Amino acid sequence: MTVTEKMRLGRHMPTGSQMVKAAEIAHELGCEAIQIFASNPTGWKPPEHGVEECTAFAHATHQLGITPIVLHAPYLINLASPDAQNWEKSILLLTRTLQQAAMLEARYVVFHTGSHRGAGLEAGIARIVQALTQILAETPQTVMPLLENGVGAGHALGDKFEHLAAIIEQLPAEDQQRVGVCLDTAHLWGAGHDLTTAESTRHVVDCFDTIVGATRLKVLHVNDTAVALGSHRDVHARLGEGIISMEGLHTLLTDPRLTHVTALLETPIQTDEQGKEDWEHDKRHFERFQALATVATQSSM
Ligand SMILES: [Zn+2]
Ligand SMILES: [Zn+2]
Repeated sequence: MTVTEKMRLGRHMPTGSQMVKAAEIAHELGCEAIQIFASNPTGWKPPEHGVEECTAFAHATHQLGITPIVLHAPYLINLASPDAQNWEKSILLLTRTLQQAAMLEARYVVFHTGSHRGAGLEAGIARIVQALTQILAETPQTVMPLLENGVGAGHALGDKFEHLAAIIEQLPAEDQQRVGVCLDTAHLWGAGHDLTTAESTRHVVDCFDTIVGATRLKVLHVNDTAVALGSHRDVHARLGEGIISMEGLHTLLTDPRLTHVTALLETPIQTDEQGKEDWEHDKRHFERFQALATVATQSSM
């Protein structure tokens, strides 16, 4: 009997200030991997967890078999920014987040590709390449930054696979293996990549494989969405509560070219009247996710 290779599954976890507790809850949900914010996602303040706290988290995740650890960088980071001050603040914050990731023994840091703010696609890509080259020189090799695809709103880059490929290809040769990609299913949908049928979903993966390369994909953010295909809007919904078909998500999650990928839910967590997370509800939702990521086997095998 051969063991079928499959994606590792996890979810984005709110931590408050309690990272170890978040890892324990993730484990109870059935997570094999985890994503967290290491600092305020809507602020400029860099992450500042001390050595002891980071070691405790790394130890807890190791004990629980949770790997890889993924950090999501703050949303304000814009490596494509034409504004010098904004660009430098972005470089500093992503550098600090990668350094914190190393302390947490996180393997990946996901960040949004950014916006050229009217300066043009080529200028935006050049800015990102210059910023990444600088950041990679100052951060540990153990942590890989991942470009996350976007919905293509306004002047934002990264909705087209060609943008992601261009950024990686323009990096110095020795840096190209140090950067990967994260694809978010709600962002794919918002950008017009059709995940309706098994066939259309395989076509999306074919395109990604041809343009960027399937091995560059390290993380999938798995979200449903209620907004229209190609709407350039980014709204996350729980699986089955939006309009992305479960057939499409199942096809993506079981694609034999993507078994090395870590798939993470970023779906809204149900809360009670006091705003407390309903983890029992989320556990059932996670089971649905696990079922979607399972390849149907024939009973004779
Ligand atoms: Zn994101
Ligand atoms: Zn995402």
